[in-house]
Order: sequence, then structure tokens, then C-alpha cells
Amino acid sequence: MIADYIIKNAKIFTADKKQPMAAALAVKDGKFVYVGDEAGLSAYEGDVADLGGKFIMPGILDTHVHVTTSIGFEYADLGVRFECDGKQGALDFMADYIAKNPGLMRYRFMLEQKYLNGETLTKEELDFICPDSELIILEGECHSVWVNSKILAAREITDATPDPVPELSYYVRKDGHITGNAFEGAAWPFLFDLDVLTDEQIVEPLLRFIDYCVKTGVSAVFDAGFPEYEKFHERVYKLLRKMDEQGKLPIYIDGCYMLTNPAKKNEALEELKRFNREFNTEHLKVHTLKILMDGTQKIHTAAMVTPYEDTGKSGATCFDAKGLADVLKSLNDMGMDLHIHTVGERSSRTVLDGVELARKELGEKYRIKVTCAHLEIQDDADMDRFAKLGVIANFTPYWHAGDPRILSPLLGKKRASKMFRCKTLWDSGALVTWSSDNVAYSDFVTWSPYLGMEVGMTRQIT
Ligand SMILES: [Zn+2]
Repeated sequence: MIADYIIKNAKIFTADKKQPMAAALAVKDGKFVYVGDEAGLSAYEGDVADLGGKFIMPGILDTHVHVTTSIGFEYADLGVRFECDGKQGALDFMADYIAKNPGLMRYRFMLEQKYLNGETLTKEELDFICPDSELIILEGECHSVWVNSKILAAREITDATPDPVPELSYYVRKDGHITGNAFEGAAWPFLFDLDVLTDEQIVEPLLRFIDYCVKTGVSAVFDAGFPEYEKFHERVYKLLRKMDEQGKLPIYIDGCYMLTNPAKKNEALEELKRFNREFNTEHLKVHTLKILMDGTQKIHTAAMVTPYEDTGKSGATCFDAKGLADVLKSLNDMGMDLHIHTVGERSSRTVLDGVELARKELGEKYRIKVTCAHLEIQDDADMDRFAKLGVIANFTPYWHAGDPRILSPLLGKKRASKMFRCKTLWDSGALVTWSSDNVAYSDFVTWSPYLGMEVGMTRQIT
């Protein structure tokens, strides 16, 4: 047979358990027609490249990154990062900064909640130190914010504004009044001003990202969406589609449409259909709904089976099992898939319960691929259910060096030492995947799949 090209004298990792390594391969019409030892090449004719022992492996798939959110962070003003000892220290620091930098339209700071020593900040306190300008403080993980009255008024958020998802995406209230502290889906809209960006400003970091992927051997990524910025997310996809049509998108981007508020379920399903139709070039496709099922452990928005030790609360999920089963049935009819942010124990349990219900009802018609992402912590009772129910377990190994001391006050020592159990799930027969979950391009250090693999295997970061 005449092959388009032939490679010999290489160390080829095939990812095939039966034959993990090979020395030679032949390709015809874009497909491997031979992978094996050099003796087997005698059946093929064509140009032969001698690789002199170089290593070849399949292209890497980064199965959860944020291509569009990273554009947001590329231009975001994350504010002045500071540490303090309690609330008064925070107010003093910010008042001092404002006094030294008077007359700005907006002041932005970044503060980890732990530095408030269990206290919180209110809009009245922020108004007192900043009555005439906008003041926003991003929590360290950007999953919650504190804002003053100026910002709430500009966005017409009042005591009557409903919470998108009570106990998950919500405005903190005291005696029925909003305090200026907002979590998850209620906080995200405060973070970015994206309308001012030009197409050139969006394309430039995209080209850097594509270049990085090509250089590191990442051939495909799943884009896990941009919460609360659907319009901008679509604008980036339009630019990516154009780049693909111009031959400037050499990697595959598997996109999504994101849902954060159950009240918008029907709208999201319709939008997903439209995205599926509109973004369908060779390297850009959309066939997945992304749901933020819960939040993060550090700020107690991850949903738990066993309550948090320090607050006694358990967090909340975006859907209950029945609600999720309904989403799954709709997606199954549409021929689409589901990728779902699940950090806490109850979040993944609710997905597993929902899949169980949907499978029961759909029987042999069930064809949907469901992926739970992050999986920081699971209840023991759920460990064998991923394999049984065919739910893909997607971990973020770069986080797996996690210091159990940070979460011990929230989870208790024992639970905090039993996180990121991808090996246990792997041994149960579940399909386990790894990804970077990056949200900012920056210098791409944390995007490295090789660094992720190393931390995932060693549980150490140096
Ligand atoms: Zn993510």
C-alpha cells in the first residue's frame, strides 16, 4: 500500500493497553493504517521519516478550560489585593487607600474571606468609607463580592430583587435587606466590563492561547463557559468561527452554553440548539450544556451531604435530582450532552441521582454523556456509582496538592484529608479524565498539562 507518510525509529506511546508502545507508523488519508514495529512497514511504500528515537504521543485533550472567561480576566481590574486581621483592618486599609487616591470613579480591592476572621462587610460600612464612588471587593476566588450602595443602585438591585438560586447564587440579606455581599451567580455580573473591548483585543489573546496549545501538544479543549456573560461568550465564539474559516484555528474547541439559573432552563436549551446550529465549523462545535451545580468549599457554596463543621449548613444545588433528570431528558431528545460543575459531596450525588432517574425512564434510549467536573470531595456511598451509571469523572489535578489544613476548619480533619479521590474512582471502573480548569491566560504556567499530570500523580507542588 502507498502511504501518505511513514515514520520509523520513534518511541510512540499509543494509549492502547494491548500495545502501549510502538516504533513505526503509517498514515493514509488522515488515518493511521499501521502502528507497530519496523518490520511491519515492509507492506507500505512512501516517504519515510527517521525520527532518531524521538517520542510521539496522541494529542492532549484538556477537558475543562475557560477559553471565553479567560478573555474576561485578560482585561479585568482585579483591584488592590490585601490581607488584614478582621473587618476593621479591612475598612482601615481601604479608607487609607481611598484617601491616598482621591477622586476615582471606582475603587476595586481583592480580599480572601478568611482575613475577615468570621465577620463580613456591609454596604453601610463601605458607603461610610466610599460614599461618592463605586467600591467593589472581590473575594479571592472571585465567587463572591462585597459592593457599596452606588454599585447596587447603578444595577438596580434592591431588597425586592430575587436570588437566582437561594443559598447558592444569592444576595446576603439581614432582616430582609440586602447587605451588599453577593455570592456565585449573583456576584459574577459585577466582575467584568466587556462591552468596551474591540475585536482585536479579543483575538490577540486567543491567538496566544492557540499558539500555546500547538506548542504543548494540546489538540483539543472543552470550553467550560463564562457564567452570566452569554452575549460576550457568543461574541468570542463568532470570532473563533471566523478564525476557523480563515484557517487560523488549528486546534479543536468543543464549546458549551452555560446555565446558572434554573428559571432560565428553557431559554438555555433553546440557546444551546441555536449555538449547535451556528457554531459548526471543522474545529469549533457546540453540543453541550454546562451547569454550575454548586460553588466552592472555601466560601461554603459547595453543596455537602455532611454539613460544614463551622457553619452547620450544607450549601445548595442548582437543581434537585428530579429537576436534573428533566434537563437530562430534554438533552437526550436533542442529542446533546451535559457537563456539570460539581465540587461538593451533595452536588455530585444529586447528579448521580438525576442520572439514575433519567436512565430508569429512558431505558435503552439513554445516550447522553454526563461529565461531573472538579469533584473535590465525595461521600463514600457514591464512590462506586460513577462507573455503574456511566458518569464521567473529570478532575482538576493541578489542585491536588491541596493543603488539608486550609479546609480542616470547614470539613473536619478526617474529611479534609480525603479529597480529590480520582484513583479510587479509577479503580471502581469509572471513566476518569483530567483538565486544567484555567480561567486566565496570563503566562500559561498553570495551563501546562504536564504540570497538571505531575501534581495529580505526586500530590505535591514545589
Ligand atoms: Zn471551570
